[in-house]
Amino acid sequence: MRLRILPVAVAIAAVAAMPAYGEARPLRPGDATVLKRSATSEERVAEAVAKRLTRLSPAVRCGDLGLDVPAGMLVTGVTLLPPHGPADYFLLLPQVCNYLSWFRQTPARFDPDGCRDDACVQLASDAALALATVSHESYHVLGYRLEKQVECYGMQSIWFVATSLGASVAEGQRIAAFYWRTTYARRQQTTPTYWSAECRDGGKYDLRPASHAWPS
Ligand SMILES: [Zn+2]
Repeated sequence: MRLRILPVAVAIAAVAAMPAYGEARPLRPGDATVLKRSATSEERVAEAVAKRLTRLSPAVRCGDLGLDVPAGMLVTGVTLLPPHGPADYFLLLPQVCNYLSWFRQTPARFDPDGCRDDACVQLASDAALALATVSHESYHVLGYRLEKQVECYGMQSIWFVATSLGASVAEGQRIAAFYWRTTYARRQQTTPTYWSAECRDGGKYDLRPASHAWPS
């Protein structure tokens, strides 16, 4: 699950005030309806990306996440944990699915380095969060449960999600770096269970210790 404080204004200051975090919840009988229906085109986009990232075939559906969310926070995705065995499903907020679809249509539109105004930065931030949500939930599907580890691994795979949706590697790396210095940087204060001092180049959660490129 990922959670962030709702944006209050289209401004860099507001972007800088948006933390995010996530977790997973048990699979419930009430989830059957949404999981059994056929995937929409946006859901198939998310499934294809999650499949490439995990080498598994999780079902992804967009809709209500079935969570009680604290006031002022927004959960963008949740992985559903069955009583036994690996997780096979995750749910995304419809807006996350929309961003994935829009990103696939025009990746360059969401390149933070191309921004010249606050609205553009906000758009890039929302798109980066959508990409990060898919990678975060994918690591839950892979069996990881420790949120600070999941979030750190997910961030290091933002570039992969971006390139799976048609972005260049360079743009994917710029989006990941943008997420690192904005959304992730605020976690220590806002969502500390999703932050780790070991999430850095050469840290315990560095997936590519031989490389000094970070976080991609
Ligand atoms: Zn999570």
